[in-house]
This record gives sequence, structure tokens and C-alpha cells, in this order.
Amino acid sequence: MFRALKIDDKKAQSLVSWAIKRPRAPQSVIMPLRYGSEPAAEACVETGQHVRAGEKIADALAPGAVNRHAPFAGKVTRMGYLPHPVLGETPGIEIHGGDFPESFTSAGPAVEVMAGNGRDRSLLPFFRDMGLVDLDAAMQPLHTKIAEARGSALDVLMINGCDPEPYITSNHALAMSHALEILKGAEILRQAAGARHLVLAFQKNQMEAAEIVRSKIFFLRWEHAEVVIQPSAYPYGLNDLVLWHVLGTNARGAAAAKHRALVLNLATAFAVYEAVEQGKPLIERAVTIGGECVVEAKNVCVPLGTRLEEAFRFCGGLLRDPGRVLINGPMAGQAQTSLEVPVLPGTAALLALAKEITVIRETLPCDRCGLCVEICPSDLAPAGLVLAAERGEWQDARAAGIEHCIECGGCAFICPSRLPMAHFIHQAKAALGPVIRSPRSGGSGVRPLLAPGVGA
Ligand code: SF4
Ligand code: SF4
Repeated sequence: MFRALKIDDKKAQSLVSWAIKRPRAPQSVIMPLRYGSEPAAEACVETGQHVRAGEKIADALAPGAVNRHAPFAGKVTRMGYLPHPVLGETPGIEIHGGDFPESFTSAGPAVEVMAGNGRDRSLLPFFRDMGLVDLDAAMQPLHTKIAEARGSALDVLMINGCDPEPYITSNHALAMSHALEILKGAEILRQAAGARHLVLAFQKNQMEAAEIVRSKIFFLRWEHAEVVIQPSAYPYGLNDLVLWHVLGTNARGAAAAKHRALVLNLATAFAVYEAVEQGKPLIERAVTIGGECVVEAKNVCVPLGTRLEEAFRFCGGLLRDPGRVLINGPMAGQAQTSLEVPVLPGTAALLALAKEITVIRETLPCDRCGLCVEICPSDLAPAGLVLAAERGEWQDARAAGIEHCIECGGCAFICPSRLPMAHFIHQAKAALGPVIRSPRSGGSGVRPLLAPGVGA
């Protein structure tokens, strides 16, 4: 059994209110035409063109791509290579608001979903047209993710409501304020995927949210739905660990069990509800903006494409220079060197962490302490994987089971020698090519971002 990390103390620091604030629109947004590894969408607007809130600005012409929409009314001011938090730069569209304060107005139900019809194929092109991706770090287009899962008889659609990493509470806040909408979205997804059961997963430190969802299921009399509770330690809230718990396999078995279960993020269920019931494309998401350096940590509804600098202003800005700015959590998030990059659908949190807890110390040779083995939920020997990756011995890394690594970042966090394990692991996976898919869209350069003992 691996050793998990406690996360409760760091959650408390970002937990001021469960309300999700909706600030004024940012001055401008950057909408990348590629989020992660999916094919790019093709722009269907021109520089200087005025667009309405929710208007399509890029077409999903390639299979596996999704449309893009304007998060608010404004003017297209730039098109070309623009900053991206994972890919560096990627083709994108910049829209300036300013004199165009119009916000998206609900169009009412967009699609009629037949209750209990299962495998509703008309939903998949609709998901693509509404720009829907799974709102986790990998940001896989929803229509392709569901189409892949439909290939086999699916038992369970799992909606992962956990906020696995320290500081992050955006799913918790969403479940507290929109439980019914999330359940309706989850049910639409269950029908689209043709799954028999619906399971919503939370962690022990989210019990209020879990109980609200449970009570709604009770009143809806949904016998096919249930709530499960994971321990409130890292990495129990990650998709693979949730599967492990629910399906009763170990972390390696979880990969094999995926043919029976599809895991989607709770924020995705809410976005699907808004798309189907209100005709609202994917143009915003709930984000925890926190860390020691923000004036007031909050959960905020942020338009996609908002620059990090403007997003931090939604919370009063920064009190002092952060030691590290992260998209998502300190365990497996992406460190950012520029505040010009935009919020993406997979951005559950923006964190500005204090210098004193993000000190990067010199890397030392491995002293074979074994801590990384103890913490690995996939029963791997991360030190061996790193050695193979350092030497470029990719096939050795494969033989050592690198495909079972879920890139939780636990080994990098615990390593007293500060070895950049996650970076090497990601490099090895990339070198081994399409046989191994990374659970995260970028993943490279992930280093231990908190000193050992902080948050543990
Ligand atoms: S935790 Fe670090 S120092 Fe310890 S065995 Fe693993 S790689 Fe080596
Ligand atoms: S990142 Fe991979 S190797 Fe390291 S602890 Fe997590 S699953 Fe194990």
C-alpha cells in the first residue's frame, strides 16, 4: 500500500467562501486554437471583425477538434501565434472587449435529450459544435472521449468531483452551488456514453458537497446513481485512484478496468448542462484563484482565454512577488513564467505561491532512500524509471512499467534529492510515442514545487 499525502491544511488557505463569484469581463482574451494534443480548430473570423458573446470564432474541421466561441462581445484584434501555458505559443485569436460589455444570454434548451434512450449519437456532434472538452488537465474533446468509451459495454460513468491537490476547491464550490445542474449534466453524459450506472466521487473533506448531491439523487429517485467517498489525501482524488476505489482494482488494474468505466470531471457535467439546457457553448469555467500571495482567495467564474494577470486582479491582485505561479496544483500543475498566458478549459486553479515554500534547492544524486517507491500509487520504482530516462534507455523504462505511471508527481514531491522525476517520466513517455498516452496535456517540466513536509 502506498503512502498518501494529507492535504487538508492547505485546502483551508483557499477556503474563504463556497460562492463562485462572477467578476466583470476581462479587457481581452486569447483563445488558442489548440488546447493540448487535439487537432487545431480553424479560425472563421478576421482581424477587425466584431463578434457577439458565444459566437463561433473557429471551426472544428479536423476530426477530433472542437469549435471555439467568443466568451464576450468584442472585436478581434490579433490572430497568429499567441501565448499558451503548455505549448509556449500556438495559433490563437485575441478579442478585446472594452466598449462591448454584452455578456452571453441564455438561448434556452439547445437539444432535446430523450430520457433513458442511451447512446444518443446526436449528442456527440453537438458536444463538438459547443466546444466541449473534458475539463481536466488533459482537455480531451468530449465527443472523442465518449466515442472511444462506447466501443465496449460501459458499466459506469464516473463523475470525478474531487479536488485532489492542495489549495484547489473549484469542484467543491461548484457542487455546493449547482448540484442539480451537475446531476442533470451527468445524466445527459451517462445517456450519451450508454453507461448503466452513474457514480459521483468526492473526498472526505468535501462531505457537505457530497451530502447535497446525495440528497438530490434521493429526491430524484435515481436508483442507478450513487455517491462514493475517497480519502482526503493525495493522490486519492485523481481519476485512476477513484477508479481503483470504485472498481476494486489496484492502480495498475485501473488502466485495464477503463473499458468498463469512463471518468469525466464534475465541471464537465456542469458545462454539458449549460450547453444542452441553455445553449451556452464552453466559454468559461470555475477556477480557484489562491495561494499565499493573492489578496483574497476565491472561486471565480473565469471567461476562457483570460490572461493570468487579469484573472489575479479578480481577487484583488498579488500582495507580493510570488515564488511560483502555477496553473493547477503544486503536485502536478504547470509552473508559469509569464502572466500573459490564458486560462484554458483544464485550468481548475491559478496559484501564486510564496517564495518560502517554493525554494528550488540543488539537485543531488539519488541516495536510494526508497521514499519514492513508498509513495508511488502505481507500485513503480520511480528512481529506476528516472535512471532509464536519464540514459535515454526508453525500452528499459517501458519494461519497468512506465505506462502505469499516472503522473501524480508524488515521487518528485517526496524526493529528498529533488530529482525532477516527473520531467524525466514525461520525456520517456513522449519518446515511447503513441503507445503511451500522458494523462496530462503538457506534463513536461513538472518539478516538486513545495518543500517536503509542506502540505504533507
Ligand atoms: S526518493 Fe529520490 S533519493 Fe530517494 S530513492 Fe527515490 S529518487 Fe532516490
Ligand atoms: S509520478 Fe508516476 S512514478 Fe511518480 S509516484 Fe506518481 S505514479 Fe509513481
